[in-house]
Amino acid sequence: MATLYETRREQMFPKLTAQQIARLELHGRRIRTTAGQVLSEAGEGHRDLCVVLSGSLEVARPGMQGEVPITVAVPGDFTGEMSTLRGLGGFTRVRVAEAGEILAISESQLRTIVQTDSEIMEIFMRAFILRRMGLVAAEQGGDVILVGSTFSPGTLRLQQFLTRNTYPFVLKDIDTDEDAKACLARFHLGSGDLPVVVCRGHVVLKNPSNAEVAACLGMNPQFDAAKIRDVVIIGAGPSGLAAAVYAASEGLDVLVIETVAPGGQAGSSSKIENYLGFPTGISGLALAGRALVQAQKFGAEVAIATSALRLICDQVPFRIALSDGDEVRSRTVIIASGAEYRKLALHNLADYLGVGVYYAATAVEKKLCGEDEVIVVGGGNSAGQASVFMANNGRRVHLVVRAGGLAASMSHYLIRRIEDSPNITLHVNTEITALEGKGRLEKVTWRSGANGKPETHDIKHVFLMTGAVPNTEWLQGCVALDGKGFVRTGPDLHVESGAPDGWPLSRPPLHLETTIPGIFAVGDVRCGSAKRVAAAVGEGSVCVQLIHRLLSE
Ligand SMILES: Cc1cc2nc3c(=O)[nH]c(=O)nc-3n(C[C@H](O)[C@H](O)[C@H](O)COP(=O)(O)OP(=O)(O)OC[C@H]3O[C@@H](n4cnc5c(N)ncnc54)[C@H](O)[C@@H]3O)c2cc1C
Repeated sequence: MATLYETRREQMFPKLTAQQIARLELHGRRIRTTAGQVLSEAGEGHRDLCVVLSGSLEVARPGMQGEVPITVAVPGDFTGEMSTLRGLGGFTRVRVAEAGEILAISESQLRTIVQTDSEIMEIFMRAFILRRMGLVAAEQGGDVILVGSTFSPGTLRLQQFLTRNTYPFVLKDIDTDEDAKACLARFHLGSGDLPVVVCRGHVVLKNPSNAEVAACLGMNPQFDAAKIRDVVIIGAGPSGLAAAVYAASEGLDVLVIETVAPGGQAGSSSKIENYLGFPTGISGLALAGRALVQAQKFGAEVAIATSALRLICDQVPFRIALSDGDEVRSRTVIIASGAEYRKLALHNLADYLGVGVYYAATAVEKKLCGEDEVIVVGGGNSAGQASVFMANNGRRVHLVVRAGGLAASMSHYLIRRIEDSPNITLHVNTEITALEGKGRLEKVTWRSGANGKPETHDIKHVFLMTGAVPNTEWLQGCVALDGKGFVRTGPDLHVESGAPDGWPLSRPPLHLETTIPGIFAVGDVRCGSAKRVAAAVGEGSVCVQLIHRLLSE
């Protein structure tokens, strides 16, 4: 099959015109180069973007088995990919092949260019995104190797973390891949150390946390914790990313804090088909990737694999204690921490998380299932999408719902698809009652109807897509929540009591404002929200208008 490098080469490596180079000259510095000179090394942060004026540059990906060539840049070509814009460690080595001259453009100059020159911005951004996709798809080069078993939850977690952060890596499966054993021997590791991440070919992390991997790979830029921001956004799901794009594009100083990876729940969706502007649908991963780039283009800072542990809201600036030990301060806060799937009440559920029980149905989990039949539990759109996605290669899918049907909870277009898929069986009024298996899920028991007989099936994969609980523990009583833990905002507050208890201002809370002036909540975490991508994005963007109003008060 043709690779991305072959099918989209022209957009990946476009040539700049003389006019475009003349405009870039205003921002860059000319540098003479000599053959063999290394201009930047993989893993190095704050790399210049280089436009070749004369001579040529070799771009290659170093790895444990040597260098993998990517391209040779000649006059009119330029280097760089997504990490260049963020100042993060890149993946390639750039070496001068033929001596000549380059135009070197620093990270801050690059940001100015993408914000002010729309023609060049489009060329750069498209190339950067495609180059990153090319690196991810190539699955070679060995900058990051994950060694583990596909039957291990730890391996799945790390696979999901790297994939959702569009970080190129190679997976070596200890159960099937001879290379995996050789790799362990090379680093004097045993099977008790798994999963292992070999980071940039030399640092070995044994069963690391996401934060340890992020730190080793330099996935976050250095940010100034002492600075008082205009707005700190907690959560980089659709609502948080929308708020970041609008706030940064309107000149506010923005920091986004995200526990796992950009995209939130939407990032775990195989295909979103009802989001405006994408008639053939878009995967959650692609939507999140684009939104992240957009936010960063406008200068928003994003810290991933970092959680907000506590909001300290008794005075302005508000303080947010983070999982890495830092504390950040901000004049306003947007709570965009969304929700997570409810867990089923089964005593041994935790034993099978990642080894038969999953909370996301993306390409990563689909690969794990091979041809096996699967169960999807839930009656909402996420369950519908997961069923259709898992069924589209002919696999048998059992869609299990507690209710008597799907009409009340799922979009009509998904119900039609399910009805039209002969390999999806809908089980209404049905509940899973037991899970069994040694080390991984092997059997599932369900019961249909109150008097139904339990049926046990040899099924090894269950996708749980059952209702959501809000991520609000970190708020620890700061703002008012409803009975289910969702954040109450604006009209919800004064419909009940005029203004909330202790509200210090003469004006009522703004729409999306919580019981504390200057703290807002958007998206799925907000009580009464629509639980849809478009609604979350809308709320994230509207919130920025309210922040402007508040900052000018
Ligand atoms: C599988 C699936 C398919 C879906 N399909 C569709 C669809 O087709 N169409 C549609 O309109 N909607 C769909 N939805 C719903 C949609 O994804 C959500 O409504 C939307 O993602 C909500 O966005 P959000 O930003 O409010 O919250 P979330 O997406 O939940 O994002 C919240 C983010 O905050 C982070 N976070 C939580 N706590 C903290 C903390 N303490 N510190 C830092 N970060 C934190 C989380 O890691 C997460 O990334 C789907 C949902 C799922 C799960």
